[in-house]
Order: sequence, then C-alpha cells, then structure tokens
Amino acid sequence: MAGKYKVPRGTYDILPTESYKWQYVINVFNEVARLFNYKQIVTPIFETSDLFERSVGDTSDIVQKEMYKFQDKKGRSFALRPEGTAPVVRAFVENSLGIPDTSTKLSYHGPMFRYDRPQKGRYRQFYQYGIENIGRDDVATDAEVIAFAHTFFSKLGLKEIRLEINSLGNDNSSEAYDKALVEFFEPKLEEMCGDCQKRIVKNPKRLLDCKVKTCKAIAVDAPSMLDYLDDECQKEFNDLKAYLDDMKVPYVVNPKIVRGLDYYTKTAFEFINENLGAQSAICGGGRYNSLVGQLGGKETPGIGFAGGFERLLLSMESENLSFGDTPKPDTFLVAVGEKAKAKAMGILGQLWSNGISAESALNKESMKAQMKAAGKSGCKFTLLLGDDELAKNSIAVKNMETSEQITVSLDELVTELKR
Ligand code: AMP
Repeated sequence: MAGKYKVPRGTYDILPTESYKWQYVINVFNEVARLFNYKQIVTPIFETSDLFERSVGDTSDIVQKEMYKFQDKKGRSFALRPEGTAPVVRAFVENSLGIPDTSTKLSYHGPMFRYDRPQKGRYRQFYQYGIENIGRDDVATDAEVIAFAHTFFSKLGLKEIRLEINSLGNDNSSEAYDKALVEFFEPKLEEMCGDCQKRIVKNPKRLLDCKVKTCKAIAVDAPSMLDYLDDECQKEFNDLKAYLDDMKVPYVVNPKIVRGLDYYTKTAFEFINENLGAQSAICGGGRYNSLVGQLGGKETPGIGFAGGFERLLLSMESENLSFGDTPKPDTFLVAVGEKAKAKAMGILGQLWSNGISAESALNKESMKAQMKAAGKSGCKFTLLLGDDELAKNSIAVKNMETSEQITVSLDELVTELKR
C-alpha cells in the first residue's frame, strides 16, 4: 500500500536489499585509502554559499543553476554542498592542516546535492567518494592520485572503463589558449546558447563543456589545449604519461576534458564507462593550484578526484560483479516453552557480547514456526533450547548446511561456536 508521502524527486532510499552493496564499495574505498595512506575527513553537508561561488566559480552550472541555496533564520546564505573539494580545502585552511615539504592526504565520502534534471545516474542527492592531496605540485603526485582511482576500480573488478587524461596548462599557457578559443568561437557565437555567449567572457574553456547539441557540434573543431602547453606543462604531461605506463595504468589522451569547475589547472582526468549511457563519467578530478590561495590560505598546490557511488554500482551491475555476500546471522536461537524463553535473552546477550551474531523469533510460540524463521534467516547454526535441554543445562546446535546436530553444555556454547 503506497503511503501519503514520497521520497523527493531525484532522491532515493537505500533499501536493505541494496545497502550491503554500498557497505561493500565503501569498505573497498576505505581499504584503498589505507593502502595509499589517505586519512578520512568529514565536513558538514552545508557551507556558506559564497565558498562555492568563489571556488567552483560563478560561471559554472553548479553555481548558476544547481545549488540548493537557502537562508537561515538570521538571513545568512548557505548551500547544501554540491561537491567536496571546496569544503575540504576550507577545512584544510581553517585548521592549518598543511605539512611542510610534503602533502596532506585526505579522503572523504558523503552526500552531495545538485538541483539538476534527474535521470539514470543523475540524482539531486548523490553520494560521492573522493580524495584530495594538498601540498605537492610534482607529477608523481598526479600519478598517485590517478593510481588510487585505478586501484579502487580494479579491486571492485571493473573492466569496461576508460581513463581519459588531459592537461589544462598553467596560467601562461591557459591565457594563450583562452585567446585562441575566443578567436575560434566568436564568429560562431550567434549560433550558440545563451550560457556560452556569457561564458566566453569569463571562462572560454567552458564552451568546450557545453551539453547543448549545437554548441557541442561547433566545439568539435575547436583548437586543442595540448597545442598551447608551454614547455613546462608539456614536459609534465609527458612525465605523467610515462608514470602511468610504468604503473600499467591504461589511458587515452582527450584534449576536450575541461571539467565543469573553475578551479582546475594542469592535469585533468576522468574515468568513463560507456555502458552507462548519457551519464558516463564515473569519476573526475584534476589539479587545482590556486584554490587554497583563493580560499584565503597560503598558496598551496593540490590535486584530487571525486566519483559517485551510484554510477559505480550501476557499472558493477552492468558487469555482473559481486558485492560480497549478503550478511546473514551466525546463529538463530529457537526457544520452546516458558522456562526456555525466560532463559533466551540471557543466551542471546552472551552471544552478542562475544561477537557472535544471533537472531531469534521469540514472539512465536511453536517450534515449527521458529524453525521456519531460522531457515529463512540463512543462519549457519540453529540453537535449540527446550525444557529437556534446560534440565541438563545444555543446548542443541544444528549445523544448517550438514543438518548434523550436537548437544553442548550452555557454559561451553560460546567456545564451541567459536571453534
Ligand atoms: P563532478 O564534480 O561533476 O565532476 O562529479 C564527479 C563525479 O560525481 C561524476 O563523475 C559522477 O560520478 C558523480 N556525479 C556528479 N553529479 C552527479 C549527480 N547529479 N548524480 C549522481 N552522480 C553524480
């Protein structure tokens, strides 16, 4: 029976039939974070809205159209976070997390919010995982960050994904490229969308990223960033490719990756899964060497990436990958008769406190009904307690796989089960 209330459009419930998959991928993510020595950081789900306006950029779709902005009771302007990098960098600056001569390595996961038209793989509340490596500007760091994502996807078993890399250049090369883009797009501007007509003034690279069909068709022939890299950026990009080759991380170069946010410089990358249709980017990231300074910290370089768990689960399902076993209880206690029932909670308590998972159906009277519930639970052992067993201070333990049954003393139950 459908109730009166519905989940808000673009959001969803993670039901028990799905939640174990989430736990599985989050566990693998945390394991990879440990492997690469990234420490978890948790920031609030809302921040002052100007944090995103300043960092993500006011020409970006996120800030222009997608932010859940609201005023609190004192009229202060906040936004539900649309992405994780700006909050992490805010926390980095605010808590002076910088470490001299090396970088601070942070990982996070949590819900993000964007007001966009919902479709498969695109939601208004979605759950991102990500890392930030703040403090180093060497290409080895870029390679490490990309290797983190690659390792994560490999551990999950994903095969049908493609890593695309690009360099957005530094301020020098970026300026020359922006000029070339303006020259290219200006004569065609009338055929382009209103957003592009505005963006060309503030951030011409964003014209390469427009989703409108006519704009996309025009952008196909736009000049390539890679032709405008200065010697330093060119060398770094070549070094990055060599590192990826050394680590056996396959990639293709895609000079059209610009990333939707304003703060990116130099290395930019995305992992793509074509199976997902229109929303094919499963994770994206890049270097942001001016962001820390922009947010009031000492000029500090950084690089990171973020991906959505939803598209990851869709990708894994499309490749029929395993999410581990659905969790099942180790034991199920069947207690029949008044005396046995009176003793049941004590036994369950002992199992729980000794790390043995246990389930029961003490609301049911008959042995048959309780045995049926035990069967349904998928438990490994059913523990049978009736008046006869109680009289001998014992309990029957039935192995549900082999149907073998033994009787053990209640005092030895935990030791026996642990064996
Ligand atoms: P972005 O910050 O837009 O580059 O997003 C990084 C990653 O987050 C994307 O590659 C997706 O995996 C995921 N993502 C972004 N927006 C959404 C959304 N609205 N719904 C689900 N996943 C998203």
